[in-house]
Amino acid sequence: MTARDEFPTTKVFAERIRAKDRVALARAITLVESTRAIDRQKAEDLLAMLIPDTGQSLRLGVSGVPGAGKSTLIERLGMAWIQKGHRVAVLAVDPSSVRSGGSILGDKTRMAHLASDPQAFVRPSPTSGTLGGVARRTREAILLCEAAGYDRIIVETVGVGQSEVSAADLVDLFLLIALSGAGDELQGIKRGILEIADLMVINKADGDNILAAQRAARMMASSLHMLSSADADPHLTAVAANVLAVSALHGDGMDDLMEQIQKFFESLGASGHLEQKRTHQMKQWLDDEINTLAVDLVRAHPAFRRALSLAHENIGQKTLTPSQAARNAVQSCLKS
Ligand code: GDP
Repeated sequence: MTARDEFPTTKVFAERIRAKDRVALARAITLVESTRAIDRQKAEDLLAMLIPDTGQSLRLGVSGVPGAGKSTLIERLGMAWIQKGHRVAVLAVDPSSVRSGGSILGDKTRMAHLASDPQAFVRPSPTSGTLGGVARRTREAILLCEAAGYDRIIVETVGVGQSEVSAADLVDLFLLIALSGAGDELQGIKRGILEIADLMVINKADGDNILAAQRAARMMASSLHMLSSADADPHLTAVAANVLAVSALHGDGMDDLMEQIQKFFESLGASGHLEQKRTHQMKQWLDDEINTLAVDLVRAHPAFRRALSLAHENIGQKTLTPSQAARNAVQSCLKS
């Protein structure tokens, strides 16, 4: 796509994306990030046209605290996949950007080799938006990348709070990167995050840190075993069997990790779980969209606006509780 084609029709736009035009893809992702109503409409038309071309990729979530080695590991994994003939897209989800307007993931030059490889597409996190908006944008960006022929999609999230949990709803398998530390290796890793992780690595298993990292991997595996037998949780048992010590920087253990990822993905497909998981994720997406749409419609309704000022009065005068006033206000637009 060139500067001359500033406003291609949706059909032309879709054709360019299918033809693997990176500029068109980048522009389409900008469109799905936009909150302007006119862009939203265009984005929806484009996605509707491309949806038959989606779904064929392996979608991998990667998470870890800042400094854990996410970008180093993704770069190595991505380049290895490219060597095997794959095309790799990396999408960053950074909820810190929602709050601060700045981004932990976007502020430095990351993944320089991948970013300049013609078989890769690296998209930093947008620097504004709401958490719900971030999830929608990422879901839609995954579909766009698939339509553009990327068959390995990596969704990178920074390990702060809830972001990993929502990112796990967008991918087929989720890799957690941790570092060795003193004492209890599960310390600092929240239970909820262990439940969503499918694979776990202890990174920086190199130099003076090799033994500590290997020990941490063993301890992590046994802590996970303990948790899994206490809860009879087969998922945790499987994760426990898969903890690896790796060096993303030097590459040690990375072949094993790639093999694990491939095996996990293939077994998901063979057991029918991949289809189930993706269907579940589509339903979840539908629910999220319904919730957003319902709130927008109610708030824009003239009867609701009138009822809302009455509700403000009611709660100010303590004649109604906020929950009664909210119910009245919402019901007002159902009546009219
Ligand atoms: P991110 O914030 O999680 O994306 O982490 P980075 O990939 O930017 O890595 C943070 C720092 O750790 C950088 O200085 C990397 O060079 C270094 N690093 C990453 N992986 C390894 C590793 O396997 N071994 C060692 N020794 N350093 C690493």
